Order: sequence, then C-alpha cells, then structure tokens
Amino acid sequence: MSDKFDVIVIGAGPGGYVAAIRAAQLGLKTACVEKWIDEKGAAVLGGTCLNVGCIPSKALLESTHQFHNAQHADVHGIMTSDVTMDVKKMVARKDSIVKNLTGGIAGLFKANGVTVLQGMGKLQGNKQVEVTAADGSTSTYAADNVILATGSVPVEIPPAPLTEGLILDNEGALNIDETPKRLGVIGAGVIGLEMGSVWARLGTEVTVLEAMDDFLALTDKDVAKEAAKLFKKQKLDIKLGARCTGTEIIDGKEVKVKFADAEGDKEIVVDKLIVAVGRKPQTQGLLADDSGVNLDERGFIFVNEQCETGVPGVYAIGDSVRGPMLAHKASEEGIMVADIIAGHHAQLNYDVIPNIIYTHPELAWVGKTEQELKAEGVKVKVGKFPFAASGRAMAANETEGFVKIIACEETDRILGVHMVGAIASELIGQAAIAMEFCSSAEDLQLTVFAHPTVSEAIHEAALAVDGHAIHMANRKKR
Ligand code: FAD
Ligand code: NAD
Repeated sequence: MSDKFDVIVIGAGPGGYVAAIRAAQLGLKTACVEKWIDEKGAAVLGGTCLNVGCIPSKALLESTHQFHNAQHADVHGIMTSDVTMDVKKMVARKDSIVKNLTGGIAGLFKANGVTVLQGMGKLQGNKQVEVTAADGSTSTYAADNVILATGSVPVEIPPAPLTEGLILDNEGALNIDETPKRLGVIGAGVIGLEMGSVWARLGTEVTVLEAMDDFLALTDKDVAKEAAKLFKKQKLDIKLGARCTGTEIIDGKEVKVKFADAEGDKEIVVDKLIVAVGRKPQTQGLLADDSGVNLDERGFIFVNEQCETGVPGVYAIGDSVRGPMLAHKASEEGIMVADIIAGHHAQLNYDVIPNIIYTHPELAWVGKTEQELKAEGVKVKVGKFPFAASGRAMAANETEGFVKIIACEETDRILGVHMVGAIASELIGQAAIAMEFCSSAEDLQLTVFAHPTVSEAIHEAALAVDGHAIHMANRKKR
C-alpha cells in the first residue's frame, strides 16, 4: 500500500480537476488520478472539455466567425477583398490554446499541492484506489474520500463505424485540417450544430441528418423555430426524421451515407462524416466487484442530490452522473462535493444551470421552457423582445434573435429565460443571477441597465412580460 490521502479524485476533467483544487484549498491532502497521457508519458489534464470539447470547439467557432465577419466587413464600410482562411493555422492556434490551458491546470495543481497520479484508476472496496500506470505497473492508495469524475465518451452507432480520416467522432472532427467540400453530420444536437457551423462558414456544403422529427426537441419552441430559420439562411441543410441506415467508403476517400426519412431510402456522398449522436458515461474498468458503487439503468453512476453514491465517502460528479453533460455543471458539483467533504454545508441549484449552443447567433437558456411549464399546468406570462429593436445590436449589425422571459402569472417569479442572439452566451449569465436570487419580472423591470447595451433587451423583455416594453408595440389588454 502506498500513500494515504484525504481525497482521491479519479479523472482530471472540469469536474475532477476543480474538485481536486477546491479540496486542496480546504486543507485536504488530495490526489488526482488521470489515465490520459501525452507523447512524453505525462498525464493530460483538463479532460474532454479542455482537450477535445468546449475549448477547442470554441476556438474553431471563433476563428471561423472572424473569417465570416472579415468577408462581410463591407457593411461597416471596410472594404476587403480576397479574404482567405489558412485552415492549418486555425487548427494550430486551437492546439496552442489547448496546450496553454492544460499546462495551466498542471501549474494550479502544483501551486495547490495536488498530487497527480498518472494511470487508470479503479475503485476497490474500503475506498482503496488501484492505479495502473501506462507501463502496466500498479499501485494502491487508500483514501477517506473518493470522487469519481470519469466523464463521458461519444456514442458510436453500428451504421457509421468510425473510420480514420473519414468517419469521425467529436475528437476527429476537431482535427480536420483542410476544408472539406461536402460534410455530413449525424445528429442535429449541440456538437452537430457547432461543428456544422464551423465548416459551413468556410464554404463547406453541410448536411445534417437528425433522427427526430422535431428540431432541438428539448429547447423552447420559439428558440428552436428561430434557430431553424437562421440555420437555413446559413445554408446548413438539416434533414429531420432522417435516420442513418448505413455507410460505405468509396475508393478510400469519400463516404456514401444511406438514410431513411418519411419519403423512403436516400443517400448522400460526403468527404467527411461526423457522428454526433450523444455521449455516454465512462465507467469501463472503473469499479471493482467489491467497490459497492452502483450504476443506474442508463449506465450512469448512481448518486443522490449531494452526489454521494451508496458508499459513504464515495462521490461521483460530472458527465458520469445524471443531469446535463456540461462542464460548468461538472465543476460546480466538484466544488459542492469538496466542500461537503471538508465539513461545510453545500448544495447545487440544478434548476438554474445555463445551456448554450455556440452557433451564430448563439442559443442560450436557463430554467424551464414554456412548453414544460404548460405541461406542468403552471400559468405563465411571457415577454419577448427582438434584438432588431436594440440600438446597440443595430450598431453591431447583430439584430437577429430575441430575449424571451417566462414568469409565473401568479407570483411574477421568473421561471425561464430563452435567447437567440449574437452574445446570448454572455447575456444568459445575467438571467441566471436573477433566477438564482429568485427575481420576479418586476425586479428586472426595476433594475437599471446601461444604455446603449445589448443587455437592455433583457430589461425590455422583462417589461414586455407585463405589456410595457418601451421600444416595441406590446400593450396588453387589461
Ligand atoms: P471529462 O471532461 O470527460 O473528464 C473525465 C476525465 O477522466 C478524462 O480526462 C478521462 O481521461 C479521465 N478518466 C476516465 N476514466 C478514468 C479512470 N478510470 N482512471 C483515470 N482517469 C479516467 N460543455 C460545456 O459546458 N460547454 C461547451 O461549450 C461544451 N462543448 C463541448 C464540445 C464538445 C465537442 C464536446 C465533446 C463536449 C462539450 N461540452 C461542453 C461537454 C463538456 O466537455 C463535458 O460536460 C465535461 O468535459 C464533463 O466534465 P467531466 O469532468 O465530468 O468529464
Ligand atoms: P446531443 O444529445 O446534443 O445531440 C444528439 C442528436 O443526435 C440528438 O438530436 C439526437 O436526436 C440525434 N440522434 C441520435 N441518434 C441518431 C441517429 N442514429 N441518427 C440521427 N440522429 C440521431 O449530443 P451531442 O451533440 O453528441 O453532444 C453530446 C453532449 O455534449 C451534449 O449532451 C452536450 O451536453 C455536450 N456538449 C455541450 C456543448 C455546449 O454546451 N455548447 C457543446 C457540445 C457538446
């Protein structure tokens, strides 16, 4: 038996590394186990988010958005010609951002005294963790508390088996280094829309096959409808009710994608195909038979509201447990669990977790949708304000979309905020703060928003809840 720790975290993604740092800050002797290694054999920190998820995808989205803006700068009187994109340079920039950030986590671990244990972690009985290093050697560590933060992996589907350079999961999709002429995407979810947008902006013909008949089925209907309209304008060809039935590699360089929709069997030929049909919890090899930890019926590690498993002192957080697969949700669970271990009271408000899809314009929401609330029988009042009526949005040439605020008819409390807009990812934080403090629509109506700002649309949407928006005809009958 090697060292004993107060806390061992398995997994160094945004759930695990944040939990480890917080635990160490609280004076707990902490280790973090990570199986991912780089070419030099060192642990790769940051998990999916930093390495093959949030950050690299946003780097590519930002680069291609800047390219699009440069091509359309004439609207401001800036005349450009022959704007070109060096895709290899764009990908290299993305890689350097990833390197910078993951190196930063190593620095934070060092500064906080978190011990990194490189290897595959396995939870055994009695809170012991076996770590198998890349060279096959094993060591076993004891801990008073263990936090499982092993994240998720992409779902694969039999009709589209991953094929080097041609049929790609989200990791492969981030490494495409020349503009494909034709790109197919299976799944019109978050990854499909974000990665589809990256390449559509560079001129790729993008076809997205979505099995469901409804577009963005879980999103507020107004947002989904507006987004569908805007994506069509951006030439993202999204085919609904289209289920992939098979793929065939042609001459080692193209992919024939067969699918079936309401009209029957069809096929398209593309240069690359991205499979983005969801992710599943990563628990393979994690739990020894005597660990005492159970999975739920969908394969997630079973936990209570405080992220504790059935074994006292063993917690699980992030993508490997129920709830949205989001980096900020994973991190906040990590903080909550570290605080609980240190003896503090801590909880996470699962009702107020913002969601964002980083297309352009962005889609963002927090709280419940109008259809969810209606299904629950809650009487609501809704205020909507279009960015087309915002002076600042006009100045920025970003007038697409709206802010929609849903409040309880009886109590006026804000129950959901939904947006489509150029900087919705930044604005949604204001809505989350309001909801975290249980604001009413009136609270936002009484808040002074600076002029001219895009966030005034939140103020106006709150006023519109009662039919009083100033810069829009919206008077409600009394
Ligand atoms: P992970 O980040 O998956 O980390 C788990 C870590 O555990 C990994 O490093 C893994 O190697 C390690 N591990 C697993 N098993 C073991 C073991 N047995 N022993 C040792 N180590 C182990 N979310 C957002 O909020 N915003 C976004 O913009 C966003 N964009 C995304 C874009 C893409 C393309 C993808 C794929 C995901 C995106 N996500 C985004 C989701 C986000 O990345 C995840 O929700 C988040 O990374 C989950 O964090 P985690 O710590 O639970 O798991
Ligand atoms: P997703 O759940 O967002 O979307 C998957 C889509 O694929 C769904 O619309 C589903 O109906 C469709 N689908 C499933 N099987 C299909 C099939 N056989 N044929 C055609 N369509 C099919 O999943 P994702 O886009 O893979 O992303 C995975 C997770 O990563 C998301 O749940 C999200 O939480 C996270 N993520 C978040 C962000 C962000 O926060 N901006 C970005 C990327 C990923």
